[in-house]
Amino acid sequence: MKEERDAPLAPLTTMRVGGPARRLLTATTEAEVIDAVRAADAAGEPVLVLGGGSNLVIADDGFPGTVVRVATTGIDVESADACGGAHVRIAAGEVWDEVVARAVAQGWSGIEALSGIPGSAGATPVQNVGAYGQEVAQTIARVRTWDRQAGQVRTFANTECDFTYRHSLFKGSTYRGAGRFVVLDVVFQFVLADLSAPVAYADLATQLGVELGTRVPLADAREAVLAQRRRRGMVLDAADHDTWSCGSFFTNPILTADEFAGLEAAVTQQLGADAPTTPRYP
Ligand SMILES: Cc1cc2nc3c(=O)[nH]c(=O)nc-3n(C[C@H](O)[C@H](O)[C@H](O)COP(=O)(O)OP(=O)(O)OC[C@H]3O[C@@H](n4cnc5c(N)ncnc54)[C@H](O)[C@@H]3O)c2cc1C
Repeated sequence: MKEERDAPLAPLTTMRVGGPARRLLTATTEAEVIDAVRAADAAGEPVLVLGGGSNLVIADDGFPGTVVRVATTGIDVESADACGGAHVRIAAGEVWDEVVARAVAQGWSGIEALSGIPGSAGATPVQNVGAYGQEVAQTIARVRTWDRQAGQVRTFANTECDFTYRHSLFKGSTYRGAGRFVVLDVVFQFVLADLSAPVAYADLATQLGVELGTRVPLADAREAVLAQRRRRGMVLDAADHDTWSCGSFFTNPILTADEFAGLEAAVTQQLGADAPTTPRYP
């Protein structure tokens, strides 16, 4: 396992800011990930688990403890048949967009709308990564983790992950000030198909020239999503500073019908008859 002292963290994040880690361990096997986290916990050091660094802002003072960078690899098909679809085990350190590209090429349907999202596969269950009408909760079968508190490997079936909008058991559980569960690998269950899941996002349907709910070739869905993301400056480009970000800070508010009616009334009261229509997604 590679170990560095006072290692700069900025180059390991998409924001490219912040100070060094007191100690940076790069773990390329599952055993190394577990050993690194277990030893740091035993020594009482602060621990930060780092994937692709695309959803992190590092403070100028850096991190006063051990950063464990998850750099594990492996995409293994556990089973594939027309009935059960493809069960694919993906190591936490795999680059997420490369996983999506592979899925599109292999005819594994269900994550094509999650194209162009930076970061690692292991981070996707943490905030139930989602975009353009899909979220990983729809295709994750199991998540295998290192439970820092219990000091053991624990596997969670989809229904045990408490997935909700941009949230999960993993995001909600902490141990000594950081995530309690370190994701080791994720098993996805994909539909075997050359067509996408039904298109569930209005702008995407418009761009593809189809009705909402239509299924389109996987590669077309991926290209359309990437085009939408490029238009919004949401595809990282090392040469273009405007794309350097850590994604969106905001989540969509979820309102009841009554709350939404109240919001519209307030907007109309403020802006009068020229008030724009408030966008909504049922
Ligand atoms: C341009 C851009 C566009 C984005 N678009 C989207 C989008 O459309 N939808 C969306 O949902 N997100 C989006 N994001 C946010 C981000 O890409 C995701 O949250 C991604 O899953 C973060 O992965 P990461 O490996 O980079 O995590 P990191 O930034 O390295 O870490 C983020 C958090 O997850 C924890 N973590 C990382 N790996 C593990 C692991 N193996 N086990 C346990 N905890 C771990 C870290 O400790 C940290 O708390 C976007 C970000 C950028 C920069």
